[in-house]
Amino acid sequence: MQRDPHWIDGKPAMPANGQWLDVFDPATRAVASQVADGDARDVDAAVQAAQAAFPTWSSLPNSARARWLERLADALEARLDAFAHAEAIDAGKPLALARDIEIPRAVGNLRFFAHAATQFSSESHHGEAGLNYTLRPPLGVVGCISPWNLPLYLFTWKIAPALAAGNTVVAKPSEVTPRTATMLAALAAEIGFPDGVLNVVNGRGPTVGEAIVQHPGTKAISFTGSSAVGRRIAGITGPMLKKTSLELGGKNATLVFADSDWRAHLDTLVRSAFQNGGQICLCGSRLLIERGIYDDFRAGFVERVRALRIGNPLEDGTQVGPLVSQAQFDKVLACMARAREDGGRVLCGGEALDRPGWFIAPTVIDGLGPECATNREEIFGPVVTLQAFDSDDDALALANASDYGLSSALFTNDLARAHRLAAGLRVGMVWINTWMMRDLRTPFGGSGASGLGREGGMEAMRFFTEPRNVGIALPP
Ligand code: NAP
Repeated sequence: MQRDPHWIDGKPAMPANGQWLDVFDPATRAVASQVADGDARDVDAAVQAAQAAFPTWSSLPNSARARWLERLADALEARLDAFAHAEAIDAGKPLALARDIEIPRAVGNLRFFAHAATQFSSESHHGEAGLNYTLRPPLGVVGCISPWNLPLYLFTWKIAPALAAGNTVVAKPSEVTPRTATMLAALAAEIGFPDGVLNVVNGRGPTVGEAIVQHPGTKAISFTGSSAVGRRIAGITGPMLKKTSLELGGKNATLVFADSDWRAHLDTLVRSAFQNGGQICLCGSRLLIERGIYDDFRAGFVERVRALRIGNPLEDGTQVGPLVSQAQFDKVLACMARAREDGGRVLCGGEALDRPGWFIAPTVIDGLGPECATNREEIFGPVVTLQAFDSDDDALALANASDYGLSSALFTNDLARAHRLAAGLRVGMVWINTWMMRDLRTPFGGSGASGLGREGGMEAMRFFTEPRNVGIALPP
C-alpha cells in the first residue's frame, strides 16, 4: 500500500503521532493509499525547516529562484503521465482532464511564476519633495492550503508565486487528494531543490490546516476552499493581523440571451456546468435563459447533458467521473432531495448510478426561484438549475441574487449589452461568449462569500511581498 508521508526539510517525514489516514479511489470506494495524519508537531517541524531555509532562499538572485522553478516545471513535465494518472485516481477525475489540462496547467503555473520572479517590479514616485521608491521583500514563511477539486493545479497556483517572491513554504493539500502535492515535494527533493524551501505537511484540515494558520511563524496564509472554512481562518488570522488571502466558494450564474449563438455554444455551456463533475469553483451552476428561447434551450441543453459519458476516469472517452468522496456524494444527494421537496423538476439525472463508485448522473433542474436554497447555496457537484428571465435588468437581478461573487459568463452578440452587464455583475471575473478563459496575468478571485483578495499574476506577487516605501529628499 502506497503511504504518503510529509516532506519536511527536503526529506520524507513520518507523522509524529504515527497515525495514517486512508485515501479512497472515488471510482471504486476502495482504499487506494494512505497519507500521514499529521498534527501540530509536524507543522512546527516544517515551520522551523522553512525558517532555517528562508535567509538563503530569499537572498538568491531572482534569476536563480526562477531557474529552480523552471527546473521543477521541467521535471514535472517529464513525469506528466505519472502525475496525471495519480490525480485521476485520487480525485476521480477523467484521466484526459488531468493529462491534457490540469497537470499541464500546473507546469504552466511553475513556469509563469518563474518568469514573474524576474519580471516583478515595484513602484517609484517622483514628487516635489523628493523621490519615493518601494521595496518588496518577501514575507518569510507562508502557509498555503489548497482543496481537493484541482489538487496540483491549485497547489502550484499558490506555492509558485510564494517561492518566486522569495518566501519559504509550509503547504497542506487536502487529505482527500494528497498524492500529487506529495509527489511534487519528492520531485523537488530529487532535483536538489534547497532543503526546507518547500515543505508539505499532510493531514486533516482542522488539525494540520489550523496549526499552519495559528502558527506564529507563518507570516501569511493563502487559502482556497469553502466559505465556511475561509470564515473560520479569517477569525483566527484577523486578531493575529496575519496577511490572508481567501479564495472561496461560488454560485456562478451563466446568462444566455436570445441574440447569442447559443446553439453553437452548447458544448461550452455544458462544459461550464459539468467539467470535473461540476466540482470547479468557476462552474456555472445557475443557468439564466432569456424567456423567448427558454423551451428550445432547455431541450437542446438537456439532450447534450444526457449524452455526457459518465464512467471510469481511467477509460478513454469518459467525460464525467465520480464525486470525490462519500461526504460530497451524500451532500449532493441531499441537495437534490431538497430541490425536489422545494418543487424543483428534475429534467435529467437526479440520482446515483448503480455502480460501486461515488457516481451521480449529471442533473438539470428547473422550476425553482432565486430564493430557494438550491439557487443560493453552493452544491459543488454535477447539478445545475435553469431559470428564465425577461429583460437585462431581470437577468442582472437574478445573477446578483447571491451571497457569492466569484464569476459569471454571459452569452450575447450585443456588444453594448455585454459591456453594460459585465460592469453590473457583482463578481470578480466575467466571461463573454466563453467560459474559464484563463490568462495567468489577470486578477483571479471573488467578493462577498467568495473571498478576500486576488491571486494571479502580479496580484499574487504583491500578496506574497511586503511593500516598504523609501523616501529620499532631493537637493533643492
Ligand atoms: P474545504 O473543506 O474548505 O478545505 C479546503 C482546504 O482547507 C483543505 O486542504 C482542507 O483540508 C483544509 N481545511 C479544512 N478545515 C480547515 C481548518 N479548520 N483550518 C485550516 N484548513 C482547513 O474545501 P474543499 O471541500 O476542500 O473544497 C471545495 C471548496 O473550495 C468549494 O467551496 C469550492 O468552491 C472552493 N474552491 C474555491 C476556489 C477559488 O479559487 N475560489 C477554487 C477551488 C475550490 P482537508 O481536506 O484535509 O480537510
